[in-house]
Formats: sequence, structure tokens, C-alpha cells
Amino acid sequence: MAEIEQQGGPVGPVKRVGFVGRAVVVLLGLAVLAAGVLVVRRLTMKHPVCGPETPSPDSTYVAEDSLGKGEMLAGALARWRVPQARINEVYAALAETDFDFRNMRRGDEVVFAYKGLDLAGIAYRKDPVTSYNVRFDSAGTTAAKETKPVDTVRVVVRGAIKGSLWNSLIALGEKPGLIVNFAEILSYDVDFLTEVNDRDSFELLLDKLYVDSTFYRDGRVYAVHYKGKIGNYYGFFYRDPSGHWDYYNEKGQSLRKTVLRSPLQFAKVTSYFGMRYHPILRTWRQHTGIDYGAPTGTPVSAIADGTVTMAGWNGGYGNFVQVRHAGGLASCYGHLSRYGAGVKAGQTVRQGQTVGYVGMTGLATGPHLHFEVRQGGKAVNPLKVIPPRAEPVASKNMPEFNVFKASYLADLAKPAGPVVAVTDSARPAH
Ligand SMILES: [Zn+2]
Repeated sequence: MAEIEQQGGPVGPVKRVGFVGRAVVVLLGLAVLAAGVLVVRRLTMKHPVCGPETPSPDSTYVAEDSLGKGEMLAGALARWRVPQARINEVYAALAETDFDFRNMRRGDEVVFAYKGLDLAGIAYRKDPVTSYNVRFDSAGTTAAKETKPVDTVRVVVRGAIKGSLWNSLIALGEKPGLIVNFAEILSYDVDFLTEVNDRDSFELLLDKLYVDSTFYRDGRVYAVHYKGKIGNYYGFFYRDPSGHWDYYNEKGQSLRKTVLRSPLQFAKVTSYFGMRYHPILRTWRQHTGIDYGAPTGTPVSAIADGTVTMAGWNGGYGNFVQVRHAGGLASCYGHLSRYGAGVKAGQTVRQGQTVGYVGMTGLATGPHLHFEVRQGGKAVNPLKVIPPRAEPVASKNMPEFNVFKASYLADLAKPAGPVVAVTDSARPAH
């Protein structure tokens, strides 16, 4: 019963708003129809909504809407029956500010402020921080940009795995972006899809940003800790005096891989490393690489920085590129339809650079990439290669890194919740 009463709750005040006047009834009627999309609320009222039948002309209230798909501000204003002449005034006033007319997106908020029966102004908000306020008064139509202060609060988030990392952090009220960030920071050491177990524990130290005491978004993650069956892993943010930043483990080693997991971003493995029957040669042979099925022309990325040692025809592998990397590692890409720009023997390539395009040259039954990794000249399973780490903290910076690390560890030892108020007004209501 209690639930039903709660559901019925919002209808009450809306009905009573009918006293306010016909125009507003129409507007609020729209709002009710689009329940969930439109939020109508009172800002300040001389009389309560359920008060006397005749509204004071000084009553003010706001209605919030947002741009629909492909909609511009003018479209939203027209939907709210704002006359074209006034829409033109709004655009002219906004043109006096740095308002970006080409950057209106679905979901941008449009707020309508009413005084009595009259539209007193509108506000356009792309995010909680910046809004463009347009006023209509005796002085004409004027627009001003308003930037709200952002309060930063450093917090500890702590929990235990129940099901998956994703579910466990969502259950704590955290946002998907933070979960992805956390998993990426520790991805060198932990595969969060396959290596987590119930009751593993995790901790994060990060900034949370607030506007008007309301959560706005997550800020920088300073430290993460994961302790589970597979091990005990830390990640610390560190920016060196030259401005280069990365996440490092407690020894100052980089947590970033210098080798990509795959030379194709979206592709299906069609043949793994190991023995297989060759459909053209009709024999069982050792498959010394991985085949990725992908359409002809799909760009193929170098998995790491390196030097091209071959870019040419290589028998059954057709058009073939081989790149030598640091640490005795080499990568090979076969059956290419063509080569990447400037890819020839002796040239250096960067990680992610296109070395060629998927094709079916050589012995291939269909378009695919044959991808091979060699370690010390011997073919190895690319999925088993332990990628080299990016540069560690320079030894001359280790003392500073250790100071940051110690302060992050001290914060991580605190109870979950805010650890330090970075700005004076950083006192969220929660
Ligand atoms: Zn192959």
C-alpha cells in the first residue's frame, strides 16, 4: 500500500496546479505526459502550489526539458510554444556570448522559468557546471554565461567482489566510467573478466566532483588496490617533473603495456595457435600464429613501436609485414591486401600505426589476417606473450614517487568516504 501511495504522490500537486491558469495547465500537462523526461518543480512560491485559487502574478516556477535526437534549441523552444520572434531574440542574445550553436546535443537541458503566466527566461545547460541564462524583461532579451564552482572531494571507495568487479562497484553506487578506469589501470596484472573471485577486495582513492552539493562526476584516480586469489596489486598515479604521467606499481614499474593485445580492434579469432588442418594444402600443420577474420581493407595496427624488417611477398603468406620490437620480440602480419603508407623495410613504426590492410593474398580461402609473434626468432602464442612494460619511474624521481605513494597508502588506510576536503566549500550534503 505504501508503494501505491508513493506512486500516486506526484499526481496530486500537478492536478492542483490547474488553479494556476490555462497556459500553465497546458505546459504542465505536457510535463506529466512526458513523466520521467520532464521534471517540473517549484523554485520559490509566495503561495504553496496547493494554495489559493488565484495565483499571484509573482509566482515563479521552472520546467526542465532536454533536446531530443537531432533537435536544436529553436526546436525545443517551438515545442514549448515560444513565438518565433522570441526564439530569434534568444538566438541573437546567445550570439553575444561564446555559446556554441554547432554543439547542441541530444540530452542538453533547457530550463523554462515562468513568472506568473509569463516566460521570464530560459537556461541552456550542457552540463551542471556551465549554463547560458537568457532573461526576458523590460530591458529586452539578454543572455549571460554562468559557470558554477566545482567542489573536489578526495574519497576512498572500498568493497569486496560479489559476482564481478562491475556488479560490485555498481552496488556501491559507482559509475561505469570509474569501473572501466579501475580495470584499465590494473589490466597489466589482472584480467577482470576471468580472474576475480568472490570476497577478493578492492580499494580506490579518487577525487569526486560536486556542483551545488550534487555529485557531478568522478575525477582523477590516485591509487587502486586489488587483493585476491591471484595476488595483491597496487596502482599509483604519478606525474613526473617533466609532466609525463602514468600508473605505476609499488616498485615504480609502469602498469601500461607497450604491446597491444591484438593488431585489430574488432575482429574474431578464426584459428588459434597450434595444430590445425590446412584447408588448401589439405594437411595437418602447426599453425604458428592466430588468424583473425575481418573484411578486406580493415586496417592492421603495429602492436608495438618497432622497425619494419620486411614488407613484401612471402609465399603462402602473400603480402607480408614483419616488425622488430624491443626485447627480442617481432610481429608478423600476413595475407595483406596492401601495405600501410610508408611501411617498408628499415622504416620505424609506432604502436597503433597501420602497417597494412586485411586481404587474402597468398594461400587463403577468405579475407583474414595471419598474425604471428616471434620471441628470439621462435614463434610463440601471441595470446601468451607477457607484454613488456612501458618506462618505469626514472630513478632520479623515485624519492618523489615514494612520497606520493606513502601519502596515497595512508589515505587508502582510512575508512571509506571523504579523506580530505580539497576546497573549503567541499562539503557535500551526503
Ligand atoms: Zn594463419
